[in-house]
Amino acid sequence: MIVDCHGHYTTAPAGLQAYRQAQIAALTDPTLPRTPRPPEIFDDEISASLEGAQLKFSRERGTDVTIFSPRASAMAHHVGDQRTSLDWARECNDLIARVCALYPANFVGVAQLPQSPGADLTASIAELERTVGELGFIGINLNPDPSGGHWTSPPLTDRFWDPLYEKMVELDVPAMVHVSSSCNANFHATGAHYINADTTAFMQFMTSDLFVRFPALRFIIPHGGGAVPYHWGRYRGLAQDMKCPPLEESVLQNVFFDTCVYHQPGIDLLARVVPIENVLFGSEMVGAVRGIDPRTGHSYDDTKRYVDALSLPAAELEKIYFENALRVYPRLRSKLG
Ligand SMILES: [Zn+2]
Repeated sequence: MIVDCHGHYTTAPAGLQAYRQAQIAALTDPTLPRTPRPPEIFDDEISASLEGAQLKFSRERGTDVTIFSPRASAMAHHVGDQRTSLDWARECNDLIARVCALYPANFVGVAQLPQSPGADLTASIAELERTVGELGFIGINLNPDPSGGHWTSPPLTDRFWDPLYEKMVELDVPAMVHVSSSCNANFHATGAHYINADTTAFMQFMTSDLFVRFPALRFIIPHGGGAVPYHWGRYRGLAQDMKCPPLEESVLQNVFFDTCVYHQPGIDLLARVVPIENVLFGSEMVGAVRGIDPRTGHSYDDTKRYVDALSLPAAELEKIYFENALRVYPRLRSKLG
């Protein structure tokens, strides 16, 4: 069994985007309803959107189950207000639930939260409870920067986030730290903002007492952990200088990295630097990088090829492909056939 911990519904039927456009239009035109009519999306549209993309690639590459969430770059929490984000998150999450109902052997849901700059976490906690309790989701994507590139929220280690963390621990679900689109022209969304956020989150975790306060809290830092594995010596040294505990004690009990790194040397480094117990297979397919690498003739995001080429002992490979995902997402077990 191979679990891909990082997939988004980037190919959702056009009705979803039409809903979003109607929502955005209403922000500047008071004659339009704040909450548009729900999009009419048929099951065969959902099937068509997946059969030629995520399901096709998954079958070709030999992966089994994808932990699946709404398109991350479209969360765009900076657009509108709390109500905008709440309506949008609910529509996106309900569609993910339909995907999971249509293909229960292939997809397990993870929620988009209705975060909004300046808003508290009440709505996000309610949507977490709804998606886990009613839709059967097993985790969330948590945006550390709902402002979309201006970083106006408190750090992830600030007590501002505690109510959400308390609910995550209660429900035993992890969060993938995942920003959305960037409205800061300095930061390209997937090339800079994503990787910056991954790196930033790790440094915040490393220098805080968050996991002393919440020993059962778990995060996945996507995209291979941003710049962190490459600069592991820097982080070890900073921890030492700052009289923080070693990384193995301070963060690696609670923080995990996926394998969304799109070349062999990057995966080689990840597996060499980060303990195998902290690495979860992920591809973020179909996502940020959709092309074929002319040097290999294979898709950049076909990360299974790189992981297989690590030539790890079978027991280690099993951890990356399956066992670590079960530890980090305990609710996954009941979803597997
Ligand atoms: Zn992603």
